[in-house]
Parts: sequence; C-alpha cells; structure tokens
Amino acid sequence: MQTPNRTLIVGAGLSGILMAWELEKRGVDYEVWQSPDSSLNFASRVAAGMFNPVSFKRLVSVWNAVEHMEIMRKTYLELEEFLNLKGAILHSSPILRVFPNAQYRDLWAKRLDDAHEVSIWLNEIDGVADVGKEGPEEIIAPFGFGIVRDAGWVDLPLLLNSFNSHLQSKGRFFANDWSFNTQTNDTFNRIIDCRGVGASSDLASVGIKVQADHGEVLTLRSRLDTKGMCINRVKWLLPRGDSVFKLGATYKWNIEQSAPTDEGRTELLSSIRPIISPEVFDEFEVLNHESGLRPASTDRRPYAGPVPGNDGLFILNGLGTRGVLVGPATAAHLANHMFDGTPLPQDVSLARLKSLRD
Ligand SMILES: Cc1cc2nc3c(=O)[nH]c(=O)nc-3n(C[C@H](O)[C@H](O)[C@H](O)COP(=O)(O)OP(=O)(O)OC[C@H]3O[C@@H](n4cnc5c(N)ncnc54)[C@H](O)[C@@H]3O)c2cc1C
Repeated sequence: MQTPNRTLIVGAGLSGILMAWELEKRGVDYEVWQSPDSSLNFASRVAAGMFNPVSFKRLVSVWNAVEHMEIMRKTYLELEEFLNLKGAILHSSPILRVFPNAQYRDLWAKRLDDAHEVSIWLNEIDGVADVGKEGPEEIIAPFGFGIVRDAGWVDLPLLLNSFNSHLQSKGRFFANDWSFNTQTNDTFNRIIDCRGVGASSDLASVGIKVQADHGEVLTLRSRLDTKGMCINRVKWLLPRGDSVFKLGATYKWNIEQSAPTDEGRTELLSSIRPIISPEVFDEFEVLNHESGLRPASTDRRPYAGPVPGNDGLFILNGLGTRGVLVGPATAAHLANHMFDGTPLPQDVSLARLKSLRD
C-alpha cells in the first residue's frame, strides 16, 4: 500500500488555525478536524484576544516579547490579507494601567529612568488626579497611570470563522472527534494534535500535563469613552467598538466543566468598580457572560514538537493565558521543525519536560 502524504490537524481553535496557516503557506496537503460537540467551552471561542508585551506584576517584558510581538503582527496581517479582511483582525488598543499606589508609580518612573528592557513598551507617566492629563474623564486614578502603547487585540471569532469558511470551501474541514485510539494511519502520515484541554487525558498517558485553567469574561455596554484604550486595574476592560466592552478575566484551576458563575461575575465587576466614576459604573449593562478552559502547561511555556514513541504525532498545546501573542511564533517553530528539520527552541520543545526524560 502507498504511504499517504496528508497531514491531519485536530482542533480548530487558535492553535489549530495557526498550524493550518503554516501548512497553507507551505502548500502542504492537510485537513482539519474539530469535535462536533459544541457544548464544550473551548478557550478560543470566549477569549477577548488581547495581547500585551508587559507583565504588570513585576513590570518586566513578558517572555520573548520582542520576537513574539514581531511574528504575531506579521502573522495576523498575513491572515488579514489572505482572508480578505484588511484592518479587521488585528486591532491596536494601548493599555492604560491605573497605578494601584505611589510605589508602583515610582517603579514605573524608575524603569523609564533606568532605560530598563521593559521601557521600550512604556509611555511616560500621565495624569495624577481623578481626571488624567490625557486619560478618559470617567477613570479614577489618584496615583496616576502609565500607558503601554503597542498592546491590542485580535478578533478571534472573526479569524476562526473566516478561516473555517476557507477550509470548508476547499473541502478541508470535518466535524470529527479524534483521540489517540482513532485509526488514521491509512489516510495521514502526520497528525498535529491541537485539542487544547480536550487532549489532557491522552497527553497525560504519555507524561505530558495540560492543566485546565477556567476563565470567565463579561461583555458590557457602557457610555464610557476610554479613547480606544484598554483600562487595566487587576482586571482589564477592553473597548470593542459601538459602546461594547469585554471585562476579564478570572482564573480558577481544576474545574472540569466550565460554566459562568455568580462568583466570577462579582469578581470581575468589583475589580473594576474603584476606578470607574459611579455614575458610569451604575449604568453598565451586562450583555453576555461566558467561560472557557485555557490549556496551560506546567511551566507557562507552550508545548510544541513530536510526541515521543508516537511516530508522526506532533502537538501544539499549552498556549495558556497568552495564546494570541505566543501562538504564532510557536506554530511557526513547529512547522519549521517538521518540514525543514530546524531544531525547536528549548523553551517550547517537549525535550525540556522532566516527565519525558525520566
Ligand atoms: C475567559 C478567557 C479569556 C481569555 N483571554 C485571552 C486574551 O485576551 N488573550 C489571549 O492571548 N488569550 C486569552 N485566553 C487564552 C486563549 O483563549 C488560549 O490561549 C487559546 O485560545 C488556546 O487555543 P487552543 O486552540 O490551543 O485551544 P482551544 O481554543 O480550547 O481549542 C481546542 C480545539 O480542539 C477541538 N477538540 C477538542 N477535543 C477534540 C477531539 N477529541 N476531537 C476533535 N477536536 C477536538 C475543539 O473543538 C477546539 O476546536 C483566554 C481564555 C479564556 C478562557
């Protein structure tokens, strides 16, 4: 029998679609399967799609920020062009970080004075009052705020729906379940498993741990004018146009069945309440409340590469909280490895996992 030369991508969330794009560019013959079970809350359908090169906790750049920002921009712009959606997928939305106290403001100032590596993303400190110098009037920031210029968001529903339509038009998309037990050797010589938390039990059987990180997000309507900026204080409030905002997100481990909770809604609203003028806050109208399970690795770096002991099986998983930013570079690394033999960076390679070496 002839060996097939066709690749199967399992999963049509962000990681599956980014992989599909890498294969599309290379002219590789492939198809995409996605579970027909739409009751499962997969992450990409609820994610707000934000990207931010700065970690606010310690005020440093996030892992590999420069490389990831560059590849991210390039990839989503290519996808906009390919899908005929110029200007519709990748959106700029600087983040206005409301300082929690004077120490944080001093740290921000010091990062700028020291020309610290993170300073390439930071604006000078602004408005130290209820009404910021260049900030929105309805934001309360007694310690002032700083701005991260290069942040923004990706319209994931638009990207996923449009890429799926493309796949369907080419006869490449199928609503099929797949697991390690599915027999596909006659049809595919290569499988890329992009099932997010749907792969958890199969991957656990080979020593790779994917944890489910439950997250909730609200969609709000408000007359608040943030001048196109995303507001951050503990949680983030992201303007999506037409007076609609996303407010997110919560984090909770070890929840198998993800569903929106009253606790999550309260946590989200109360986090943002102190920085919004009461008249505006009281008029917030909650339009939607969603939840999903983020696929998280054990060390907050994605998993990419061949699954040991399983010929022709590869994974892209563990995109965690920053899938939009880290996904494009990681998918590109995996494709370069599969098709050009380029070694995978140690940070993302499965070879780093102690569980696979022992
Ligand atoms: C509330 C919330 C907010 C978030 N906000 C952001 C954000 O602002 N910015 C950001 O970068 N990230 C955000 N994330 C994280 C982001 O959503 C993830 O990093 C990313 O979407 C993961 O994509 P994925 O394709 O790996 O997994 P998923 O999106 O979970 O996709 C998995 C796919 O696999 C398919 N599948 C599963 N099992 C099977 C099976 N057995 N057979 C066939 N197909 C199967 C599913 O149908 C689905 O298509 C957020 C997540 C949540 C939950």
